[in-house]
Parts: sequence; structure tokens; C-alpha cells
Amino acid sequence: MALLDKFASTLSIREKLGAAGQDPTSVVIDELISPTEGMVRGRYTILAGTNNYLGLTFDPACVAAGKKAIDELGTGTTGSRMANGSFAAHTALERDLADFFQLPYGMVFSTGYAANLGMLSALVKPGDTVLLDADCHASLYDGCQMSGANLFRFRHNDLSSLEKRLQRLGDEAKNCLLITEGMYSVLGDTAPLAGIVELKNRYGALLLVDEAHSLGVYGENGCGVAEAEGVSGEVDFLVGTFSKSLGAMGGFCVSPHPELELIRYVSRPFIFTASSSPSIIASTREALRQLRARPELRETLWRNANRLYQGLEALGLPLGPQVSPVVAVRLSRDQEPLSRWNRLLNAGVYTNLMIPPASPDGFSYFRCSVSAAHTEEQLEKIISAFASL
Ligand code: PMP
Repeated sequence: MALLDKFASTLSIREKLGAAGQDPTSVVIDELISPTEGMVRGRYTILAGTNNYLGLTFDPACVAAGKKAIDELGTGTTGSRMANGSFAAHTALERDLADFFQLPYGMVFSTGYAANLGMLSALVKPGDTVLLDADCHASLYDGCQMSGANLFRFRHNDLSSLEKRLQRLGDEAKNCLLITEGMYSVLGDTAPLAGIVELKNRYGALLLVDEAHSLGVYGENGCGVAEAEGVSGEVDFLVGTFSKSLGAMGGFCVSPHPELELIRYVSRPFIFTASSSPSIIASTREALRQLRARPELRETLWRNANRLYQGLEALGLPLGPQVSPVVAVRLSRDQEPLSRWNRLLNAGVYTNLMIPPASPDGFSYFRCSVSAAHTEEQLEKIISAFASL
């Protein structure tokens, strides 16, 4: 049973997580009332940690598209696209995405996590070099690890740290992949993509940007931070997810490089897993249509983000560096996070609790994600719950 001994430490972590009341990793939302409200342990709760940026999960057109797809195509695809074939909707979504980003190639994966694993394990190999922003998401780290490439981190959002790394690589810089996110998921800050693109062009590297949290949030058309920074055409591989602004589940990559079409043949996380079910693809296609047709969703999201950021700032709380739809409240080292997080939950507000090692800088955070579907009243309740701490 020695193999199982290691779980003793996991058990002790779980016991500590639950000691202050509800374990934040096992919250059950018994009933959903709307994209931003639910019932948790019998209590009406405002959901302030959903990543449902545009609030589209209950959008009537998206729901109808998902239902219609189940009626017409069934509940699942029951296999991978390589072995069992694609449904026409998978390829249509790939064309929709390419069209949205005004790029020639698009590829859909079963999750955002699989998109990062699938892209990185195919793009780089042992002997290749990756330079990764230190605060990148676990899926980007895992993809690099799966690839076996040499991995070096540069300091978060620090162009001079990135340039030093590139200089140290010498000629190898031309054979190197840079990886960043658009908007970062924990603090809501954005990458200096214009500067990163300038460096990648100067050193002849390639760039992959994960816009998981910035799709539908940043840019004139909602394409993300690369669009907002005026460098969309210069990103070599732009990855993202359907699980946030698009309110479903799945991942994608779009690219100006025809090699993206060949990645289908070599990417194990694409080949060896079932393709997304018809209802997911259909609701995602509809959500993308909504995202494009209704810029007012983005405007409401930003109005709400500004309100929450300003309201929490006025309470004197230390927040992430930028106003954004991710509003992170930092706790000081002597503030015990679990009991405070439980107090917020008991006050009827659910936020994400980020504690080390999941937080980027050793601090704990209450991470709020704002939605276009939050009402003014809900935002005021979130602010009052923080005030009552
Ligand atoms: N990239 C980033 C930056 C993320 O934050 C996440 C999920 N939180 C993912 C990728 C993975 O996406 P998914 O949950 O859709 O698999």
C-alpha cells in the first residue's frame, strides 16, 4: 500500500481546508438561479467567481442552439475526430473562429487545457527552447513539460527579463517559442504584447498567446489583448477557451501558419480524446455570434468591472494592478484566508480563493470575476460583503 501513503499529506491539506467551515475546493451550487446567482447550502448566493464574463450561459439563443443540436445530432460524438470523423459543426466552428480573428487557420480542441497541451506538445520538442512568463497558467507549464523542450521562465510581464533571456540564447533564440497570456487569470493584469511582439520579431522567435480570459473582454471586436495592443496579426499561435466568455467548454487555436493544419496529425491531446459534443459546439457557435453582434455586453462588463474595482478600492483594499473583469483582493500575511473566505460565503458572496502555491506571488487572494450579467444591486452586495469583513 506504499503507493497510497502519499495521500496522507493530501488528507491533512483537505482537513485544514475544511477546518474553518466550507472547504473552498468543494463548494456545491445546488441550484442556479441565473448566471450570477445560485443556492449554496440553502443560502441565496451571488456568484462572483464564475469567469462567465459576458453572462451567456443562460442566453436564450445559446440554450436553444444547444438543445437543437442534441435533438438533431445526439448527446455525444463518442469518439475522436481522427478516428471517428468530425461532425460538420466542428469544422464550421473552426471556420467561424478563423473568420472572427481574421486568420486563415483554426483548430478546435475538447478543452482549453487540451488546447495548450495539444499545441505545445506538438510545437516544441526536446532540444527546442521555450521562454515562458513566470505567471502562466498550469496548462501552459504542463504543455511545455509534455513536450520535453528546455523551459526558461522570465519575470512576469517584464520585457527586460525576457530580452535578457533571449540574449543569453544567442543563435538559439531563432528556434525558440515565447509564451504569455493576454489577461492573466489571477490578478487580471494584461501582458505588454506590443513590446513582446517587438522582441520576438527582433530575435526571430515565435509567439504563442493564451487569450483564455481576454476573449470577449479586450479589443475593439472582443478578440483579446493582442487586438487591443494592435498586434493581432503578429501572434503566431493564439489559443483560447470556450469555458469563459463563450459559456461552454472546449478550446481552440488560430494562426496565420498553415502548419496548424498539420498539428492535427501529431498532437496527442487532439488525437486521443473524444471531440466536443454537438450541444457544446452549437452553443459555442451561437455565443461567438452573440459576442460579435452585441458589443454592448462588453460595455456592460467593463462598467461592472469599474464599479466593483472602485467600490473595493474605496474600502482601502489592496487590489490587482489594473481595473479589469478579474478583481483580486490581496490578503496580508497575517490575515487567515480560509475563515475570511467563509465569512464572505456566509454573507452570500462566492469568490474564488487563491492561496499559495496557486497564487502568483505567495499572497492569498479573493478573486472576483465580474460578469456583464451582474446587476448594480448584486455588485453593491458584493462590495458590502467585503466591507463587513
Ligand atoms: N488557460 C488559462 C489562462 C486558464 O485560466 C484556463 C482555465 N482556467 C485554461 C487555459 C484552461 O481552460 P479550460 O478550463 O477551458 O480547460
